[in-house]
Amino acid sequence: MNAEILAIGSELLLGETIDTNSAYLARQLAAIGINLFRKSVVGDNEERIATMVGEALDRVDLLICTGGLGPTVDDVTREAVARALQRPLVFHQHLLDQIEARFRSFGRTMSESNRRQAYVPEGARIVENPRGTAPAFIVEDAHGTVVVLPGVPSEMRYLWEHAIMPYLREERGETGVILVRTLHAAGLGESVIGEMIADLMVQTNPTLGISARRAQYELRIGAKAANRAVAEEMVAAVEAVIRERLGSHLLGDERLDRVVARLLRERDVTLALHEGSTHAPVYHALNAHPDALAALRGVIIHPADVPVDDQAVMSLARTGAIAVRSQWHADIGLALQPASAPGSDGFTLMSVALAHAGGVREWYRRFDAGSDDVWDFAGTMALDGLRQHLAAM
Ligand code: AMP
Ligand code: MG
Repeated sequence: MNAEILAIGSELLLGETIDTNSAYLARQLAAIGINLFRKSVVGDNEERIATMVGEALDRVDLLICTGGLGPTVDDVTREAVARALQRPLVFHQHLLDQIEARFRSFGRTMSESNRRQAYVPEGARIVENPRGTAPAFIVEDAHGTVVVLPGVPSEMRYLWEHAIMPYLREERGETGVILVRTLHAAGLGESVIGEMIADLMVQTNPTLGISARRAQYELRIGAKAANRAVAEEMVAAVEAVIRERLGSHLLGDERLDRVVARLLRERDVTLALHEGSTHAPVYHALNAHPDALAALRGVIIHPADVPVDDQAVMSLARTGAIAVRSQWHADIGLALQPASAPGSDGFTLMSVALAHAGGVREWYRRFDAGSDDVWDFAGTMALDGLRQHLAAM
């Protein structure tokens, strides 16, 4: 079964409300192995909703709509779905009775506009909503199945869990699973990683995708299978190939900062930092982790008080790493030192030095000074070297 999601509400198009319902529904569909081909958003306009419903049913078997079931005149999803399926709306007295009873239980009287919520398209299966006034409904039409859910996130989730998912599993036989596993990588560029795994990325099952996040990379493996055990085997097979190709650049389930924090604890290593810029990216990445804070003996945040050219960058990093290590009697002193200005190409040289009992290791790179993420990239470069040093201990 192939599906689409249609989120309905003008507030979503205005960017006032973030469409979290679609993300939830997307994960839920994956969990039962239904392919999701498209997510769309449309405002509260009957004609445009009806058009989108009709178009979606030309493409897929299942359309899940969310939003626009409220009592006010701008909630037109009922009318639009009825129009798209060319079915009249039918009034159900027992729905009105339920809505009325719900108001009574709050000590309020129902307004006339709530009457609209007691209508559903002819032949629809009604899904009662104990969490709100708007009932949901399912229409099994010759063109495909349309599931219509309210937009209030808590109501939508409740109805999904208690009615729609059981319906898809038990009555429509959707018992498969799409398992998604995310692996983290660092220390290589996105295009380099992309080339190493290009052949895996064009496969359709399992699928493999890569996305960059804060100068690190997430590789997402998705496997669709009849059950979880088979999906897990498929994911594991792809993971083994990725592991072999990326080698030590593959971090596994954890982001880089978490891996470093864990290794500091496991290796029982103490750390001191010299940050040559007030951005202090290494300290910022580590200070969210109790394990890293426990290992940290001290931090100096000290932008150089004289201009630092490319020659001076490396020696400042080296002396900084050695100095903080001895000042706080730490096992490792780590320093990140940027040049004070980018070169004529707009790139800034940044150098890292790692002082340990056996000597000093140094590495450096040039970063695009105009990039918003330049400090994330620099922090990642420093932390990834620290990670490799700790891993080899
Ligand atoms: P509605 O069912 O369209 O009247 O929406 C009721 C409430 O749910 C409003 O506060 C909406 O902002 C919110 N809502 C509607 N659609 C979504 C969505 N796709 N994601 C998150 N919130 C939503
Ligand atoms: Mg709405």
